[in-house]
Amino acid sequence: MNKEPLEEKEILKNLAKYKIKDSDYSHGRILGSMCTKADPLAKKVFHDFLDANLGDPGLFKGTQFLEEEVIRDIGSFLSLNNPYGNIVTGGTEANLMAMRAARNLAKNEKNIINSEVIIPKSAHFSFKKAEDMLNLKLIEIDLDENYKVNIDSVEENLSQNTVAIVGVAGTTELGMIDPIEDLSKIAIDNEVYLHVDAAFGGFSIPFLNDIGYKLPNFDFSLEGVSSITVDPHKMGLAPIPSGGILFREKKYLDVMAVESPYLTSKEQCTIVGTRLGAPAVATWAIMKHMGRKGYCELADECMINTRFLADALKKEGFELVTSPELNIVAFNHPKIATDDLAQILEDNGWMVSSSSYPKAIRIVLMGHINHSHLIEFLATLREIKNSLNIN
Ligand SMILES: *Cc1c(COP(=O)(O)O)cnc(C)c1O
Repeated sequence: MNKEPLEEKEILKNLAKYKIKDSDYSHGRILGSMCTKADPLAKKVFHDFLDANLGDPGLFKGTQFLEEEVIRDIGSFLSLNNPYGNIVTGGTEANLMAMRAARNLAKNEKNIINSEVIIPKSAHFSFKKAEDMLNLKLIEIDLDENYKVNIDSVEENLSQNTVAIVGVAGTTELGMIDPIEDLSKIAIDNEVYLHVDAAFGGFSIPFLNDIGYKLPNFDFSLEGVSSITVDPHKMGLAPIPSGGILFREKKYLDVMAVESPYLTSKEQCTIVGTRLGAPAVATWAIMKHMGRKGYCELADECMINTRFLADALKKEGFELVTSPELNIVAFNHPKIATDDLAQILEDNGWMVSSSSYPKAIRIVLMGHINHSHLIEFLATLREIKNSLNIN
């Protein structure tokens, strides 16, 4: 560390050298990220509320009110009038909270010690962290031919030790929506906690259904659903870090409560102690700014781009892994290995990602990708095929 203080000008000049090494969403070359450029208003608000600490809410009553209101606003499009929950750092922390609630509840109510959680093979790796940190045993369920969880297999794997079932509404790799309605029935029949991970799909499925897409239901209108993860920092246009966890009832928070001496609150249910208020307020602001209509338009645009890309890829001889349900396209070329294609694309300036199951190039059609970017991307793919003498 430098001994003498540095001038602001010098610090900023230094930082500029590093900032240019970062990718910029607005160039339209980031094709594999579930995050996107945050809205300018949300960024401004984030900055204005940087001092607010939700870990000590009595000192920041305004920010605390806004967190409660934004959770209610999210609940309003997930069919729950009186949700309990928090704006947290992301889908990972939201999932950790849900698993902690389910585990503690099962311990209190059913005396379950060797907690098992049933997850689809497509579940996000954050559940592996939950397994490790919360001492759970994950039971991984196979997927059907559409890469959705196999319902029969979920039922067969229920046991005396099951503390939760997890369904995904918008899988990370392929954007598929598990049959949550069926999972809800199983959860009710067996009195098991059902958590829906809608980190990615939560900010698009409800809005797509508003405008006539007929996507399967996944929200609190299904009686078996106990909690939902939904990430404002993905399709919600909020700045990172903003994840949402919503619980149907207060008891799920209560089983996680820890006394919080020295602070203005009596107890804390979140994992994090000192906690940024800025993400909650920025999320509040962007949701007001977008309104239901704005999110409908955004989700629709992303789907229009998704369909355009999916159709164009097929015409170019690429094979889609599955027909996209949300704004993710995964594809391969029968004559090029996935890793090779990913590498060549990267050499050409396109930042794509690969799915692991099945292995494929994975494009997430976020709002920063527009039609002309896709035209350029398709041109690159054509050049790659030509250079490899493939057509
Ligand atoms: C992105 C994602 C997560 C993890 O969210 P982070 O914000 O990266 O912590 C969890 N579940 C699903 C389905 C996701 O797509």
